[in-house]
Amino acid sequence: MKESNSDYKIVFGIVPSRRLGQSLGISPIPKKTCNFSCVYCQLGRTTEYTRKRQIYYNVEYIINELKEYLNIIDSSQYDIITIVGDGEPTLYLSLGDLIKRIKKIQDKPVAVISNGSLMADPQIRKELSFADVVLLNFDSWDEQSFRKMNRPLNSVDFISRYKGYIEFRKEFSGIIYLEVMLVRGINDNVESITKIADLIKNIHPNVVFVNVPVRPPAEQWVKIPDEKIVIKAREILDAQRMDYLPTGDFTSIKSNPTKAVLDIIGRHPMREEDIVTFLKGRKSISEIEEVYNEIIKNLKQNPKVQEIAYGTTRFFRIKS
Ligand code: SF4
Repeated sequence: MKESNSDYKIVFGIVPSRRLGQSLGISPIPKKTCNFSCVYCQLGRTTEYTRKRQIYYNVEYIINELKEYLNIIDSSQYDIITIVGDGEPTLYLSLGDLIKRIKKIQDKPVAVISNGSLMADPQIRKELSFADVVLLNFDSWDEQSFRKMNRPLNSVDFISRYKGYIEFRKEFSGIIYLEVMLVRGINDNVESITKIADLIKNIHPNVVFVNVPVRPPAEQWVKIPDEKIVIKAREILDAQRMDYLPTGDFTSIKSNPTKAVLDIIGRHPMREEDIVTFLKGRKSISEIEEVYNEIIKNLKQNPKVQEIAYGTTRFFRIKS
């Protein structure tokens, strides 16, 4: 089993996903490669701002890595394989082929988490339709709000993307989840939420999720809206609350707990409480405090790790 930081480049986890259960992740594009730079992005500001679809890693390489990974984990440990970028996965040129190959070598469903930027393109919709579940974000109601919230490249426009969503629903018989992220001062008012809800009616997603920026965002001014408006939004959008969904247990192939935590925070920020949850799954109660203190000490001494206070919580993440 590989055990160094540079070991598995593409496959990661298993991480608990609030919507998908225990998820084995595949990230087929390099970190922060995206055609959006959302104000709430938990990965920070986009550094590789691009519209060009590329084969960042060839499909064979990814499939070989996945096969090796599947050999060292128990298939009962994960519910789904999720293609989720450290950026936007539809920028991966062989996405359709990759999904088909993943489905050939194992039986669990495949999900793709996308910003939906390229949905106007029939080729992208065709590739996504090989998946079982597609999760798309939709938190604006016109061009102006779209630019403010998601800061897309000029080549992506609100109406074409929206029409692409409607077409995709007609073409795709799998599950579509829509996520509406609420940010204070942008879309956290009844008028904006009602406009978003009216547009969503034409998309017919299976489930709408309301989310708030619970992890440290790209822009410091981004704040979680008041609880009252989040409750109202849930009503207007007929949605589930994402921040209330249980996260489940973190699983890692790494036997060294600090390495396992570094693996997770390389993908997304982790709260101190999440580290405790992670340890509960694999250490006896008497060992937890000692191992926890050891991990925190190691994280604080690691120059690549950044400690961030956000709201009342402390997070750890790998510096961009
Ligand atoms: S949240 Fe997703 S779509 Fe937005 S900038 Fe981050 S990676 Fe890109």
